[in-house]
Order: sequence, then structure tokens, then C-alpha cells
Amino acid sequence: MKFRCSLLLLATAAFSLPLAAQNNAVLPGTPSSSIVHLSTAYARDPKQPIDQDYSAKIRQYTTEPFFNTPLTDYLPASKTVPTPAKVLGDVSGAPNMLPYAEDVYKYFRLLAASTPRVKVYTIGHTEEGREMIAAAIADQSLLARQQENDARLAKLADPRTIHMDDKTAADLVKQSFPVYFITGTIHSTETGAPTALMELAYRLAVDDSPYIQYIRTHMIVLITPVVEVDGRDRMVDVYKWHRAHLGQNYPEPIYWGHYVAHDNNRDAMAMTLDLTRNVLNTYLAWHAQVLHDLHESVPFLYDNTVGDGPYNAWIDPILAGEWAQIGWNNVSQMTELGLPGVFTHGDFDTWSPGYLMFLAAMHNGISRLYETFGNGGADTEKRILAPDEYERTWYKQNPPLPVVTWSQRDNNNYEENALLTTLSYFAQNSQQWLQNYYLKAKRSIEKPGANGPAAYVIPDEHQSASRRAELLRVLALQHVEVSKLSEPVTVAVPAEKAPAAPDAGEAKAAKPQTTSRTFPAGSYVIRMDQPYSRIADALLDRQYWAPDDPQKHPYDDTGWSFPDLFAVPTIRVTDTAILKAKMDPVADPGAPSGTVNGSGAVVAFNNAGEISLLALRYALKDAKISVADAPFEADGKHFAAGSLLIENAAADTLSSAAKAADLQAVSLSAAPSVATHQAPTPRIAMMHTWIDTQTEGWWRQALDKLHIPYETISTQTVSREGDLRAKYDVILFAPIDRVSTQRIVDGMPMYGDPIPWQKTDLTPNLGRIDSTDDMRPGLGAGGVQHLKDFVAQGGLLITSEDTAQFAIDEGLAPGVFLNHGNAHVVGSVLGAQFVDTKSPIAAGYGDSLAVYSAHGMAFTIANTTASRHIDTEKDYHRPTGRGGPQEQDIPEDRALVKPEPLPSPKPWEATPLNEEEARNNPYVIPAQDRPDVILRFTASKNLLLSGLLENGSSIEEKPIVVDAHYGKGNVLLFANNPIYRGETIGSYALVFNAILNFDHLARQSAK
Ligand SMILES: [Zn+2]
Repeated sequence: MKFRCSLLLLATAAFSLPLAAQNNAVLPGTPSSSIVHLSTAYARDPKQPIDQDYSAKIRQYTTEPFFNTPLTDYLPASKTVPTPAKVLGDVSGAPNMLPYAEDVYKYFRLLAASTPRVKVYTIGHTEEGREMIAAAIADQSLLARQQENDARLAKLADPRTIHMDDKTAADLVKQSFPVYFITGTIHSTETGAPTALMELAYRLAVDDSPYIQYIRTHMIVLITPVVEVDGRDRMVDVYKWHRAHLGQNYPEPIYWGHYVAHDNNRDAMAMTLDLTRNVLNTYLAWHAQVLHDLHESVPFLYDNTVGDGPYNAWIDPILAGEWAQIGWNNVSQMTELGLPGVFTHGDFDTWSPGYLMFLAAMHNGISRLYETFGNGGADTEKRILAPDEYERTWYKQNPPLPVVTWSQRDNNNYEENALLTTLSYFAQNSQQWLQNYYLKAKRSIEKPGANGPAAYVIPDEHQSASRRAELLRVLALQHVEVSKLSEPVTVAVPAEKAPAAPDAGEAKAAKPQTTSRTFPAGSYVIRMDQPYSRIADALLDRQYWAPDDPQKHPYDDTGWSFPDLFAVPTIRVTDTAILKAKMDPVADPGAPSGTVNGSGAVVAFNNAGEISLLALRYALKDAKISVADAPFEADGKHFAAGSLLIENAAADTLSSAAKAADLQAVSLSAAPSVATHQAPTPRIAMMHTWIDTQTEGWWRQALDKLHIPYETISTQTVSREGDLRAKYDVILFAPIDRVSTQRIVDGMPMYGDPIPWQKTDLTPNLGRIDSTDDMRPGLGAGGVQHLKDFVAQGGLLITSEDTAQFAIDEGLAPGVFLNHGNAHVVGSVLGAQFVDTKSPIAAGYGDSLAVYSAHGMAFTIANTTASRHIDTEKDYHRPTGRGGPQEQDIPEDRALVKPEPLPSPKPWEATPLNEEEARNNPYVIPAQDRPDVILRFTASKNLLLSGLLENGSSIEEKPIVVDAHYGKGNVLLFANNPIYRGETIGSYALVFNAILNFDHLARQSAK
């Protein structure tokens, strides 16, 4: 109420001003802000000639006059600097044409060669070896001073270097100019940014209007025109194919980058993709203040900078203010320019730090993102909007038109206008952003003193070394400083919560309990008094999304807590005593860390759920390798079941393999007396569909990074090839994306013409990962039979989420069923318990494991192939009759006959059949063929570790990983996705253990 009253007062004051004051159009007390004066500055420099042909084309390709503005409805001419037409053959945003990345780069290099206001840098390469560039654009006087400016920005970025002194910082701010980093077309189907950025670069370098001059003399604009370079080139191929086959359906780009498609914008946590690493390294090397990523999916321009709640809980509150300030200013300026459909509030929540732009938010900068409107290519199309897109709301006062003819040029106009107005605003307030840049860094360092924590500690005890190495590697890629204790330290930590006594007083319960804990020397410490503490805190902490949060549609995963998902126990320490402990910085926390100690004839690698053991089998292919069937002690050390014993390996090969594996191997004085089996060298195939390859891409990437060889096949290959068992031991069928069994089997409808995905002269970048002359056919009934034959003959089929559902639907997983419940989960981290700890699949794990659950999927199991309800004790409710609720009703006139006791199975167990139910029942599964439950969810009170969970009781204690037996082989079903976005390192070994033991997965009872 108070807020509304003060607004009213302000309005009254304005209306009561004398007429003369109102005519000045500036309210008393309003600073002469940039907004007021900007509109007068749009005018171009009358002395500078216009490129008449280019400007005419801009007009021609813009579908409505009000889709352009005085900022972009002309192009200034230059005698020396070429326009984009030099490379494109037409203007930026011209219809029916998309340039390859190479042509975009060619233009930026032409710019650099023709004006001192542009410099081009190589910032890295992609998985397929394509170059990534950044172009710096500013007045030459700024570019000449770039190095000294950067030295100042570096000090602001790490205030420890200036002893956190605000006065020194203020002096540095005064002398400095900011860097604004713009990135284009990370999403390959969102095609407009490269040409918009080519033309923007030209305008910034050439246009002499005061408006543009102000920008280039007050800041450096850094542009990476193509982020997903592999995907861009494939998209251009697809588009060219479409132009050559008008009227036909054309392929959806099934592969964008080498591994993933749209998820390339969910990699900013685990940093697995080259593009993420190259962008972060560039962003930090330039000490940029903003990372602004360009997308296309929403009409006409959604500046999702403001977005919606909940905001990420680890950002600096200053950033939330900057988002609002910049976002609303952008909307306001664009609206003043008369462009309809520009807004900044909307349903994108800023919770997950996985988006590329969020690299800035987590490294003391400003993250920004535009969704402009695009047609997925350069066709000019009639577009019909949905009501929620065109309806007026409080934050969309001038909404998009319900029906519109939209061109690539329209898109480029919007992108350039939005960027120019925002750059202008940024330039005019540059001191403020630099001051905030310093403040945010300073506050990151002050984290332990304010609200904490002081540090995270990864103790050097009882841990999987390979998983810990992966976690340290992520922190290193995020530029987080890691230290190592040189002597033990004791700090106060919260006590484990004891179960509350039933009548404990409230005061007693509320009192925080602390205890002390000593961390040994060698423990890793991630100090929170460092400039990039924010990203470490966001990754290592847990997340909680309230089920009654007003935001009902989380935009992405709600939980990601890395210590849980990597299964690396990490302690959040608030006691600042930890910061005074003796520790040394770790120079390269991501360096491979494995060794072989001793020189005995048998080298043992302990299995603690390691992710690198399987690769050893392939790296040491000539060695004799056996897998321990049981735990053993040797040379005073404990080795878990599933540990590897290696003989006859060359010492240097072995030591480099151990190093890459991040494992401490031990040379034993003698072979241990433990039952073993020979480790096979499994022949692996990764089977994908032609419907979607995004989620399986994360699996391919994990195997590649860990040097596990495999063959790529598709459902069409399996449909054609009868004898799969002759070629493969293991087929991985990774999740697709909530695709039905019918679609896996049938593929796409066979209407119309074939849809090829092949390398041809017209499409040189397609077909690189796999190819087909027609993407439409699926697995088919024949393929299903071939898979059944493969498993029945001893193969292992590994499935997850929708492909596990497929295995169930097709009868490949006898006794496994889908759990039907109402659990509400959106990408959460849930607790799980091992059931069959003797299974080789569980080797090296303890009792529990955290898993990533996308939607709360779970299984149930039965002793029959057709699930039928069998009454259990839990279901029984006594009927009306004599006696109390726990007593029996005793009928009159006959002796009492006791009923058969009702079974009381656990939620993860099958309900046993009694004689009556088993008699002449062809659906009963023989004991040796019944499924083994490997892992189940925990009880509901411990189920949620991170993220959102509602109605957890409907999945509590239900199976999530089940080994089903079919013929001589096995089908492993995951209700979780064990290999996902490089974030689920803790569950990788479930897959790898299964692969390494594919021929040792028969039921224990049947062995
Ligand atoms: Zn996008």
C-alpha cells in the first residue's frame, strides 16, 4: 500500500506543476538521463553518404515499415570498408540465403583488414575442429589502449589485488571503459544472428552518427557471431537442401553440435562442450561486464533478462537490479522507436545456472538473452501466433501482431535495434557497470564474512578418486581456485540431526546443534573468499524449489547439487576457522592424477564406483585383466568387489593409463586369493533413432571423453541386420526424449518424399555422425525381433527412461512394469538405496546413491509377465462385524478357519504368489528369470536431496534400476538418466560396471 501511495503523490506533483515547467518535459528531480535525450540522437550524420542500393534492399526486405527504425533503415556508405553484401552477395537478412560460419568469418576479417576499429581473434575450436572467433569493435584509440584497460579491469575483477580498497577501485573505474560480449546462434535452428551481427559490426565501425560514435568511443563491443559452429554449418546445409527441394518436407537438424542440440545451452555448469569453455575463457580473458546471448523463438523480441522468478539463489542481488534496469530500459527504448512486441518479463525463470549467458551471472558480470522471432531459416513466411503470444498483458503493452508476414530481415532489424539501443544505454552509464563489476567481485570475496559459507571441503578419505577428479576438473574449468590442506584442521560443523523426541519442547528443537570435525591434511578446500566463489557455491550447495512456488513451470532442472550427483562427499563449512588453516593452492586442479605405486607383478585398481575402470580394459588390450568377484584385502589395503587385477602390462603403458584414469593403483606382492573372472573387451554399439539424438548425445560424449570405444548404429541398422549378437556384446539405447514405443518402432509417417540425412555436394556437413537416405523409417517389427534375438543370445541391452519403457512395452523386460503415481518432479536430485549389493552392477558403491530424475519415473516388479493385482497385507481392511478394529470377525455356526496370511512385500519387491495364484499360470516367471532390483528410491522423508518434489510417497522405495533377464541375456532398465549433461558422474559406473560384466549378470540364484 505504501508503495502505491508514493507513486500517486509523484503523479499529483507532476500534474500540479506550472504549465511552463510541464512544457520543459523534464520533471523536477529527474536527472537528465540518457533516455530523455536519446530519441533526438538517432539522426544520422548528414555529412556521411548513404549506401543507396543497400538501404533500398533493407526497405524491400522489411515486411512492414514499422518493423524498422531510423537507426537501421539505412546503411552509411564507406569508400574503404566493405558492407556485408561484399561476402553475402546481398544485404544482411536477405531472403532465401544463410551464410556458413566460414563466410561470416571472412566478412569479419575483411572488416579487420579495412578498418582499425575492428580486430578479430581465434578463441578456440569445436569438437569437429571448426574455428570460433571473436571480433572486438571500438574506436581505434580504445583498441590501442585495450591492454592497459584490461590490466585495470583485471584488478576490478579480483579486488584482492588492490587490497579491497574502494578508493583505488573508484580511480580504476574512472580510467576504464567496459567490454560487452555478444554471442550469436548457439541454437542452430535460430538462424538470424550471424547476419545481424555482421551488419551491426559494420554500423559500429563506420557510422558517424553521434549515437553510434558515442558507443564506439566509450566501450568495446566483443562479438562471437557463431557459437555453435558445427551446428551452423549443418543448418546451412539443411536450408540449402530445402531451397533445392521446395515443397518437400526437409529434415529437422537431427544433429547440431557433435554431441548435443538445444542442450548446448545447458552446459554452463559442467562445462563439457568446447563452445562453453571457449566462451567462458574469452569472457574472463577480456574481463567483460556482460555476456549477451542471441536466440530466436518468441515473437517479436523477448529480452528475457528480467524473466520471472524464482531467481538463482547464488547471484548477487546487485545483478537482479541490473537486470531490471537494463531490461526495462531496453523495452522502453524499443517501444519509443515504435517496434511492437518487445517485452522483458515472461515465463523464463532464472533459477538454473546452466545457460551459456549465465557464465556471466556466476562470474560477477551481467547475463542477458534475447529471444527474437525467427522462421528457422531465411524464408519469408506468414506466421500465425497463439493467443498467449499476441494478447496484451501488463508487461506486453504493445504486443506482437496475431498474424504477420515475417522475414529474416525483420529479425535482423529487431536484433540490431535492440542491441544498438542497449549498447547506447550501456555506454552512457559505463561507470556504473564498472563500479558494480568491482562491487560484485568484492562481495564474492566477502562471502564468508557475510552469510557464508566459508568454504566447501572435500576430505581425502573413502572416496572415488576418479569421480572426485571430475568434480575438481569442473571447478578448474569454471576458473575456481582450489586449495589443499597441508595439515589437519578442526572446525565446527552442524551436528547430524537426531530424530526429534515426540514431546521435545520447541525451544529445545530450535537450538542449533554443532559438533566439531577434523579434516585430514590433503583434503581439498574450496574457499569462498575468492572472486568466483559464486559459481562454486551454486554448484556445491543444494537447491530447494518449493512445490507451492508461484512459478508452476520450471524452465529447466530444479536441482543439480554436484556433490550429490558426482557422489563426492563435500562438506559445507560455515566456520571461518577453515580459512585460517594451512593450505596451498592447487596449481592445476583438473590435471590427471593417477599413479601406480610399487612394482609387483599384479597391479590392482580398487573399484569405488569408478568411472575410469572400463576404459582401462581398452587401453590395456594386451594385458591380462580380471575382475574380482568379491572384496579382498591385500598389502594392508581393502579392495571392493569389481576391482581390477592387471597382469602382463608394460609399465609405461600402465602408468599412463593409471594417470588418465585418475586412480592410485597398487602393485601387489602376490596375486590375492579371491575368486575372479576374466574381464572381456565388450563390443559396444550406441543405437540412436532418427527422431531425436539430443539426449543420447550426452552418452556418446561421456564414452568419448572416457576413451571407451563404440560403434554408432541406428534403429534402421538394427531393423536391417539380423545377427546383432555376432557383432556386439552390448547395445546402449540411451533416452530419446519422452518418445513413445510406437514412434520408436514406426518412426515418422511415410507420407511424402524421403527425408535424407547424408553428405552430398549440396550438404557437405551432414552425415558426419551417422547417415541415412530416409530419416522416416523406425525400428520396425523386424528390428524389435532382432533386438530380442540379440538379448536372448546373451547380449546386454541398456535402456533408460523412454527406452526402458520401450523395453517393457516390447516384452524385453519380463516382470518389470512402470510405476503409476502422481509424483511431481522437474529435473531433481533424489536419494536412492542399493537393493542387490552383490550384483556386479553395484560393484564399488556403498549403500546409497543420489540420482538425477527428470520426471519421477519409477518401476514396479512382479513374478508374472502380466501384472495382476494380488492382495497384500497393506491392502487389507477388515469388514464390518464383531470386535475392535484389530480383531477378527468370527462367523456363527462353524469352526474358525484361519485365512492364508497375506503377503507383505516391500515396495521394491515382487508380491509372492500363493499356490492358488500360481496354479496353471503360464505367466509365472521361472525363479532364475525374474528381474533383479539393483537400486530403489529411499523412503519419502529422505527422498528429496535437491530441486522439486511433490507427492514423493507415490515413488518412495520403488525400483529405479532393474536388471531384467531375457533368454541368456539381460536388459538393464534405468528409470533415471544415469549419463546426463556431464552432471551425473556418480551414476556412470552403474552403466560401466554392467558393460564390463555383461556376461556375469545372470541371477545370483541361478548361478
Ligand atoms: Zn535458443
